[in-house]
This record gives sequence, C-alpha cells and structure tokens, in this order.
Amino acid sequence: MALRHEGEYSYGDSATDVWDYFVWRDRNSPEPVRHWRHVVCPCGSGAFVVDYDPDSQFLERICTGCEAEVVMFEHEYSTPKKRPNDTDLLECICGADEFEVVGVTEPFGADRPDSARTFYLGLRCVVCGCLGCYADWNPRYNDAEAYLAMM
Ligand SMILES: [Zn+2]
Ligand SMILES: [Zn+2]
Repeated sequence: MALRHEGEYSYGDSATDVWDYFVWRDRNSPEPVRHWRHVVCPCGSGAFVVDYDPDSQFLERICTGCEAEVVMFEHEYSTPKKRPNDTDLLECICGADEFEVVGVTEPFGADRPDSARTFYLGLRCVVCGCLGCYADWNPRYNDAEAYLAMM
C-alpha cells in the first residue's frame, strides 16, 4: 500500500507517504516542496501527541513511548516561546491523537533550492493512517535542513 486518496482525505502507511502527499499536493506548483524530515524520538518511537496554538505558533510534541516533551522551533527565537494558556491537542478525523510527525519545506525558488520559505506540518495518524497538513507558516529561513532540525 502507499499514498491513497479517499474523498477529501488522504491515507498512507508510513512517514514517506506523508512526503509523497506533499509532492502530490504541490505537483503543479512552480516552487514545489523540496526538503522534509521525519521526526523520531531518541527512544526510537515515532508516535507523538502534538500540541498546537495557531495564534502563537506554539508547537510541542510529546513522545508516546517515553513521554519526552519537545517544543519544536524553540531555538528559532532568542527568547523561548511562552506556553500559551490554552493549546489544542491536534486530533485526527477518527478521534485519535497519536501521529507520525513530518516537516516539509518549500524553497524561495530555483536559485535558492536549500532555503525554507514555507513550512508545512504533516501528520499521519498511527491508528487509521489518515494524513495531511495540520499547520503552515512562512519561516523565510536560509537553511531548510537547519530549520527542520529544530523540530
Ligand atoms: Zn520517546
Ligand atoms: Zn485517525
């Protein structure tokens, strides 16, 4: 099995299918996605509960294996992001809240292929396989790999 589309939803079996989803989504874009990173906890687990506040872009992942909490992109700023008062646990359409986490970036253009103009948060539900883009913003970063390393 691989990436598949059912109605307005897409499904996959692995983090690679999340990447394939963004490639498919960007298939007509003049500046398609180029870099991506599948986040795996040092404990070996690839399943996370994800906490997100769209207003502040506070984004945190909590490993379901060892419960380690990591605020993503915390080092992008000189002062750590403040935890907002109410964040939302991201939830799949099936009601589950454990995901594989994949970061994807689009560069500024062909002359700056390794930059990260736009970031997409890709998540794949580990229960039902439904995947998609749960957040996006424009980091306007010179180094896509360095940006994705902050996940
Ligand atoms: Zn872990
Ligand atoms: Zn699901």
